[in-house]
Amino acid sequence: MSCLPRRLAIIKIGGSVITDKERIFTPRIDVINGIAHEISNALNRWRIILIHGAGSFGHPLAYKYGLHLGLRDKSQIIGVAETKLSMIRLSEIIVESLIKHGVPAVPMYPMDFIVMTDFRISKIFIEPIKMLLDLNIMPVICGDTVLDTKHGFGILSGDQITSKIALEIGADKVVFGTDVDGVYTSDPKRSINAKLINTITPSNFSEVIKFVGYSTHNDVTQGMLGKLKEALILAERGIQVVIGNVLKYENLCLLLDGENTKCTRILPN
Ligand code: ADP
Repeated sequence: MSCLPRRLAIIKIGGSVITDKERIFTPRIDVINGIAHEISNALNRWRIILIHGAGSFGHPLAYKYGLHLGLRDKSQIIGVAETKLSMIRLSEIIVESLIKHGVPAVPMYPMDFIVMTDFRISKIFIEPIKMLLDLNIMPVICGDTVLDTKHGFGILSGDQITSKIALEIGADKVVFGTDVDGVYTSDPKRSINAKLINTITPSNFSEVIKFVGYSTHNDVTQGMLGKLKEALILAERGIQVVIGNVLKYENLCLLLDGENTKCTRILPN
């Protein structure tokens, strides 16, 4: 292990990466193992908090019960429980893979330590995360159904959790890992003419968001647009942010270490 103090990185891995979004409750085990392998290699350089999305474990159920709309009627309540259980199952698969790769990882569920107001985080109990890091244990946190003081409950995206924790703890680097190379001039899965945008700053942000859509699936968070909004909040506060493709073999470490690879960097002006 290096003698230099290890900097703090928050890695958000999208549901599009770790699950097959076309098939309900289907993890991509090979991809999860590859990411666990890369994370184990990065630990001599970085302290890491891992946050992951819901993909085909969370979104279909959240959509079915309208959980992202808040409490509307009592038929949704069983959906809160079903969605929670499916996210526990997905997190377990990821944590199990990390442990197999020698990474001491523990799952944390946002409903237990975060409260929202009007679908934004209004309270977070951050101490356990800091204490785990001090013990060299990696917190693994998923997007989740979270209680909301105004709407009863709502869906909290991994992207919003990422920006909140990065600001609260003061991360040195944030990587949003997804299934495309970064932010394009239009959805690259729908348009062959889409061009990768290498750099986004507060000054070109309002131009860029005109091109950015949601995910192609019934995603109850805001997809790429939501990710970009959270990334910009971080960049404005001086945190290095990158959005890139972690389906590509060993690209996660390149993104993390700032090596030359295709991606979108979000920078302050
Ligand atoms: P994740 O599950 O990895 O968090 P999402 O599925 O929410 O990611 O968002 C990524 C998806 O957003 C991409 O797979 C892509 O199809 C879609 N998308 C829409 N507009 C854009 C754009 N302008 N640039 C890149 N991706 C876009």
